[in-house]
Amino acid sequence: MKTAITLKNLSKTYGENKAVQNVSLSVRYGEIIALLGPNGAGKSTLMNMISGFVAPTSGIIEVDGQNILEKPLAAKEKIGFLPEGAPLYPDMSVLMFLRYMAQLRNLHENDVQNAVKLAKIENVLHQKIETLSKGYCRRVGFAQSILSNPQILLLDEPTDGLDPNQKDHIRALISQMGKNKAILISTHLLDEAQNVCSRIVLIDQGQIKADGSCKEILKQAGAKTLEEAFRNLTTTRADAQGKD
Ligand code: ADP
Ligand code: MG
Repeated sequence: MKTAITLKNLSKTYGENKAVQNVSLSVRYGEIIALLGPNGAGKSTLMNMISGFVAPTSGIIEVDGQNILEKPLAAKEKIGFLPEGAPLYPDMSVLMFLRYMAQLRNLHENDVQNAVKLAKIENVLHQKIETLSKGYCRRVGFAQSILSNPQILLLDEPTDGLDPNQKDHIRALISQMGKNKAILISTHLLDEAQNVCSRIVLIDQGQIKADGSCKEILKQAGAKTLEEAFRNLTTTRADAQGKD
């Protein structure tokens, strides 16, 4: 079976800053992977590269078996992406926004309706986006990312800023959708990684520090809890920047 995402020696540097360093990773269909790491670890940079928004400095990205630099459109068609703090159009109503995004991708009204139902945003469809709570904004972003019913989903901190009930809702949705898709979620939340994901890729300073099931991560880190593993394998942002 084709792998959903294959990364080979992927790197991205911003000036002197090695945001992502030599990352190799393979994601299969049916997997829900947590890209777990502290702020500044390189999670968003990695996702932005896989989605084609940011060009890598070096390395190879294959989506559904195709090199995204050679076949960018084919790769983009397979991917749904929820960027960090998803950019939404504040002046548009929710429905206008989703219809607009659907039109851009040659999708249809039933795709909009399906996404609306899955994200449970029926009751805010006619509200302007700027008037929505953070939780609803996130759900609208989520609806946008699943419009095309993509086989591969990249969700950058999907539950960031949500209250516990809203988090539960999004997590349940992700679990439900994960059955035949490949889903990559970035998070710094240990419980999210543990409860929603079948595999954890722990990343720090742009490098993979551990990769496997929660149990395997504990073994690799010589730790009793995921919290301890996280502490053992990652640096704080201040450490990373050489401050005290
Ligand atoms: P995370 O999502 O894990 O918090 P990021 O991928 O956003 O981490 O950032 C990784 C590193 O790359 C950080 O040091 C950040 O400052 C840097 N970085 C990210 N995007 C840019 C950019 N557009 N220009 C310069 N540096 C960037
Ligand atoms: Mg980020």
